[in-house]
Amino acid sequence: MPELPEVETTRRGLALKLDGRRIARIEAHRPDLRFPLPKNFAKTIQGRRVEALERRAKYILIRLEGGLVWLVHLGMSGRMLLRLGWPNDIGPHDHVVFATDEGWSVTYNDARRFGMMDLVPAAALPRHRLLAELGPEPLADDFTPAVLQAALKGKKTPMKAALLDQTVVAGLGNIYVCEALFRAVISPKRLAGTVPPEKLKKLVPAIKAVLNEAIKAGGSSLRDYVQSDGELGYFQTRFRVYDREGQACTACEKPVKRIVQSGRSTFYCAACQR
Ligand code: ZN
Repeated sequence: MPELPEVETTRRGLALKLDGRRIARIEAHRPDLRFPLPKNFAKTIQGRRVEALERRAKYILIRLEGGLVWLVHLGMSGRMLLRLGWPNDIGPHDHVVFATDEGWSVTYNDARRFGMMDLVPAAALPRHRLLAELGPEPLADDFTPAVLQAALKGKKTPMKAALLDQTVVAGLGNIYVCEALFRAVISPKRLAGTVPPEKLKKLVPAIKAVLNEAIKAGGSSLRDYVQSDGELGYFQTRFRVYDREGQACTACEKPVKRIVQSGRSTFYCAACQR
C-alpha cells in the first residue's frame, strides 16, 4: 500500500514530465474508482495546463489552469505508470490514461480500486470532505513535539493507533509508524496520553527522518523507474523492524516481535521499546 514516501516519490516523478505541460488527451475507462468520477471528468481536464503538483498527506494535488485541482489518491494498489507515447495495450485495471502535449503518458492502474480522483475548485480545497479533517503534515515545520503532545493529550488508544489516526498527523501508515516508534524507543502498545514529552521530542524527529530517508531512497531511483518500466513510487528501503519478525533487533539483538493491533501487523522490539 502506498504510504507518504511512495506518494511523494510519485508526485516528484510526475512533476518531471507534467509540470507546465498541457493535458492533450485523457481517457477514463470506467465511471468510478472508489467513488464516482466527477461529471465530465475527462472533458473538464482535457486541454488544461498543469500549473503545479503538490501533495497533502497521501493525496496528490494536480493544480490545473483555471483554478481547478485534480485530486488523486492511490488507495491500496493505485500506481501511476509514466511512459513516452500513448500505451499500445490498455489493461483491465488501467482506469485512467492521459498524455501531455510533449507526448508523455500516464496510466493510472488500480487493481483493487480503492483509489479516488476528484476535481475541486482551488478555493474549496481546504473544505473538501477528505482533506478538511487532516492533521498536520509530518514533514512541515509546524509539526512539532508540542503540537503532537497536544493532539495526544488524554488519548487512551495505543500509540500505534494514535499515529495512524489521520487527524493527529496526516499521511502516516503502518510501515513508517512501526519504524518511527522503534527509533524513538516507544512501545506501540503504550497508551498515547501517557507518553512523556521527552519521548515525543525524540519521536517527531524520528518520524521526519524515516520519511525523508524513504523519500530519498525513492527519489534517487526515479530516473531508473522512468527509463525502465515506468513505474513510479515503489522502492526498496531498509527497515529496522517492519517485516522482520524473529530477526535480531538492530539495537539489542533480541528477536523482533509481531503483534496485531486494530487488524494490522505491528513489528517492534519488546526489550528496547517502552
Ligand atoms: Zn531491541
